[in-house]
Amino acid sequence: MQRIPAILALSLLLPACGGGEAEPETAQLPPVFVIGMDGLEWDVMLPLLKEGRLPHFQAMIERGVGGGLETFQPTFSPVVWTTIATGATPQQHGVLNFSEPKPNGLPYTSNARKVPAVWNIVSEAERSVLSVGWWVSWPAEPVNGRIVASYAAQAQGQVFWKAGVWEEGLPELTYPEDLIYDVLPLLEKGAPTGPLRTGYDALFEVIPGEARLSPQDPVDPWEFPRVRDSFFRIGYHGDATHLAIFEQELAKDVADLNMVYFGLPDVAGHFWWRYYQPDEFEYAIPQEHVDLLQKRIDAAYEAADSWLGRIVEAAPENARFLIVSDHGMHAANRRNPQHPQSGAHEDAPPGVLIAAGPGIAARGILPEVEWRYSAQFGRQRREVVLQAPERIGSVFDVTPTILQWMGIPHAADMNGEPLVGLATGEATLATAQPPVGTYATGFRPATAPRVPKDGLNEDFERSFLDQLGYSEAAEEQAARDQEEGGD
Ligand SMILES: [Zn+2]
Repeated sequence: MQRIPAILALSLLLPACGGGEAEPETAQLPPVFVIGMDGLEWDVMLPLLKEGRLPHFQAMIERGVGGGLETFQPTFSPVVWTTIATGATPQQHGVLNFSEPKPNGLPYTSNARKVPAVWNIVSEAERSVLSVGWWVSWPAEPVNGRIVASYAAQAQGQVFWKAGVWEEGLPELTYPEDLIYDVLPLLEKGAPTGPLRTGYDALFEVIPGEARLSPQDPVDPWEFPRVRDSFFRIGYHGDATHLAIFEQELAKDVADLNMVYFGLPDVAGHFWWRYYQPDEFEYAIPQEHVDLLQKRIDAAYEAADSWLGRIVEAAPENARFLIVSDHGMHAANRRNPQHPQSGAHEDAPPGVLIAAGPGIAARGILPEVEWRYSAQFGRQRREVVLQAPERIGSVFDVTPTILQWMGIPHAADMNGEPLVGLATGEATLATAQPPVGTYATGFRPATAPRVPKDGLNEDFERSFLDQLGYSEAAEEQAARDQEEGGD
């Protein structure tokens, strides 16, 4: 929010000293937009692009480039999204799973991160930042700009959306603190019973039937997808709310770095893959379920495309964009009709990277190539072979690239490099600078994960993680399925 053009302008007038290069003209660099989209998969996108059903992705790819983004195991969201926002390995940044190890077992929070995130580095460089809904960004850290945090997971929404919590908001959800007053009305609108329901019902057909009142009642054949639907809806409400917050904040002031996270493509893949590609599964899927639900993954991608369109609309003409997914997805748990997840990514299939904006070469989608890598399945290590667009870089390269675009040096201890290959021949995208050694020195010490409100985490774990299939029992089962199924 706080821009410092005067100071930068002044520094440009000063002679460069110490024999170094002149200060980059950072004030004139294009604003950077980083849009995180969890679990975007090229295999889903390519046919939709061909049919013209993702017009905003299409436009972005046409004026820039789309390719594969290498990722790593474990592909747990807090781990990979923290890597994306730091350039650091999990061992370096300290976020190793959804929750820290037992006995505490609390979901990781931003204070537990051991290295600065890109929003810290950018703030130190006196450039402004706006971050909405990023993983492990609660409590909102003090930055040169604004953070609207997400606690532990988007799906925390289920806990947030209890009326009492809504009225009070969550402590430290925003930086600056009083930003919460601008955000609260949008959080209220995003409640599961709120007006966003209409938008959801228009996009995703309503699943028939009603919940059983007692265990003695006959099992409704629609119960299984209906339970998935109740959580999928939460994902939609979370994303739509974050979009509304992001738009509201952009309307106030575009920051030098603007970042937002959406989770729906991933949740869609986890829940609806068995209906999307029923032939991939070794058990029978009722045809009427396929008829109603086969379109859901595509519809989620179309929703994501419309969100991208709204962000492009809100962004200045000269903005540079990075659309990043933490991994791809595919059919999974092919022998287990009871498994909540029929799409998954534990073998770390490549994600999507799309870059566009001034100085970025227009190459379109890179040609599909064979990706071969070794992945751990439970106790086994196996070779994975799949087709995906050519590799542009890895999740480790995102933060170094953002920094380079902003004229801020990356650090030698980051595990990636700026993606210089994105540039056209003439442009260097920014002022390539030699890396500093590290940004971690002098960063505040990491402390144990915190609980924002009494009882919140118990609610969270019980109600959401189990359903998503992220609980330990589900993870062990998934590992066994993988070993048996050999998919
Ligand atoms: Zn996932």
